[in-house]
Amino acid sequence: DPRLQGISEAIRVVPHFPKQGIMFQDITTLLLDHKAFKDTVDIFVDRYRGMNISVVAGVEARGFVFGPAIALAIGAKFVPLRKPRKLPGKVISEAYELEYGTDCLEIHVGAVQPGERAIVIDDLVATGGTLSAAIRLLERVGAEVIECACVIGVREVKVHLQVCENDYAQADFAE
Ligand code: 5GP
Repeated sequence: DPRLQGISEAIRVVPHFPKQGIMFQDITTLLLDHKAFKDTVDIFVDRYRGMNISVVAGVEARGFVFGPAIALAIGAKFVPLRKPRKLPGKVISEAYELEYGTDCLEIHVGAVQPGERAIVIDDLVATGGTLSAAIRLLERVGAEVIECACVIGVREVKVHLQVCENDYAQADFAE
């Protein structure tokens, strides 16, 4: 897709953020570039329009940037999957593993009806732990999760680099 190069170039990579050894993929620069931002949303919309998707679920926080635009364009509702204690109504929760410790995603009870066709949107997938929790949450409320989609896919190398921070720092200096 010829749009991908411009999108890729609009994403800023910030070394050693939020901690030493992590190459942070910063999508805020993508949002400053109207063409790249629109192309990003359009690629998702091209894929999901006409697939009878009624739920676009966005993962807090950066899934909230792309998800609503996609939902509006394909005629679906937007459902936020939030970190604990953010949603005011009755929720169900799903825990997931982080590198150190666990985190949790929550959904409002009643936001999704059993049998609805859902997609999950986030900015980036690394280990897939966050998306796995999102899928479990949606399936627990009876949704059919058709697909998950992210702007950025970071392969095992990122996971490896996160684990091997010291090795990575050396590689960086070597370059
Ligand atoms: P995973 O659960 O797949 O290991 O990590 C994905 C989650 O971590 C996503 O919610 C994503 O927003 C966040 N994340 C991890 N690394 C980065 C990064 O370099 N840039 C951005 N924008 N998000 C990241």
